[in-house]
Amino acid sequence: MRQWTATHLAKLARVASKAVGKKGTDLPGQVARRVDQNILRNLASTVDDIVFISGTNGKTTTSNLIGHTLKANDIPIIHNNEGANMAAGITSAFILQNKLDIKIAVIEIDEGSIPRVLKEMTPSMMVFTNFFRDQMDRFGEIDIMVNNIAEAIKDKGIKLLLNADDPFVSRLKIASEDRVYYGMKARAHEFEQSTMNESRYCPNCGRLLVYDYVHYNQLGHYHCQCGFKREQPTYEVNRFDLSPFLQLDVDETVFDMKIAGDFNAYNALAAYTVLRELGLNDASIRKGFETYTADNGRMQYFSNGVKEAMINLAKNPAGMNASLSVGEQIEGSKVYVMSLNDNAADGRDTSWIYDADFEKLSRQDISAIIVTGTRAEELQLRLKLAEVEVPIIVEKDIYKATAKTMDYSSYTVAIPNYTSLSPMLEQLNRSFEEVKDA
Ligand SMILES: [Zn+2]
Repeated sequence: MRQWTATHLAKLARVASKAVGKKGTDLPGQVARRVDQNILRNLASTVDDIVFISGTNGKTTTSNLIGHTLKANDIPIIHNNEGANMAAGITSAFILQNKLDIKIAVIEIDEGSIPRVLKEMTPSMMVFTNFFRDQMDRFGEIDIMVNNIAEAIKDKGIKLLLNADDPFVSRLKIASEDRVYYGMKARAHEFEQSTMNESRYCPNCGRLLVYDYVHYNQLGHYHCQCGFKREQPTYEVNRFDLSPFLQLDVDETVFDMKIAGDFNAYNALAAYTVLRELGLNDASIRKGFETYTADNGRMQYFSNGVKEAMINLAKNPAGMNASLSVGEQIEGSKVYVMSLNDNAADGRDTSWIYDADFEKLSRQDISAIIVTGTRAEELQLRLKLAEVEVPIIVEKDIYKATAKTMDYSSYTVAIPNYTSLSPMLEQLNRSFEEVKDA
């Protein structure tokens, strides 16, 4: 009765918070937990496999990749939303998505919430991405946090999926006999920020770790006099490339992914490890890995089988240079659509485009460049000064300009500034849906 009341109050709370325009992912859980303190414990017991995803960076991408891939294989899941990764948000997910046929829960969990949530439920698997220092003022030192997590996990029969390349994550081996490691071979990739930070002490004895190879930060191949060392991974990346999206070679299987950013290779590998341990084979994993893309206009990919496009926000010279470099990584002919608005949110001063390296466009195979937005002519002038010898079309309406790229068979590279993003994204979604439906 108490659980029934709690569940119904939670659903009412969601309706109420939606009515006032809030997302309402935490509130239903908060309400229910006040009425029934055992609600999470009881709801979690109806699911066979619960996977927790945790770590400093990458847990949302890892969790979304796992969720997307399971759904792509028609496996229904309980899955919490980004940001709702503490006790209340996790409770909300179990209440609102609970159905009889759901046997797997994929739960992103905040590192700091692990001890509290593990008092109420026991996951079957936990995967850890990495532990970096950037949020450490919330938790104190990394070592203390890792030891607290280890203490919470200990003796519960939880299978740990650990990043072998991160000594802090690897340290969690003390908490369970049931462990699976993932990692990257030396020279798998030249990471952009391949600098070593100060946190390279052995988590076991405090001596300086010896590194044979560094991927980035403290991630790499390490060992210590005391015997603490990188363990041999079960799942290992041989190499990966970005062109501009991730091509990931795990144990000789290559996944042609639609996400960018070299750090995402680790997130993909963590997701791969979970999916294999849940029993999926490479063919099933491919269904999810090769269709998952961002949905926020940051390196977002579109395809309808005939035509491809990508969109990447650029609101300053660095962002513009990065977007133009992405074009360089795409093979074959391209059609660009670039938008420059000067609304208040963009900043009225658009002179920053003179600090961006448009000259690099002259090295690319380009069918046309369509310039748009309130300051389209500024872009046109900038391209002329850069001596880019391709047809430049001015179309001030962002929707029309974006739609026009569909007239070309070339790969569309869309580069909006801040307030141009939403109309451009909307039009790309529409254009790619239309051709699919036709
Ligand atoms: Zn040591």
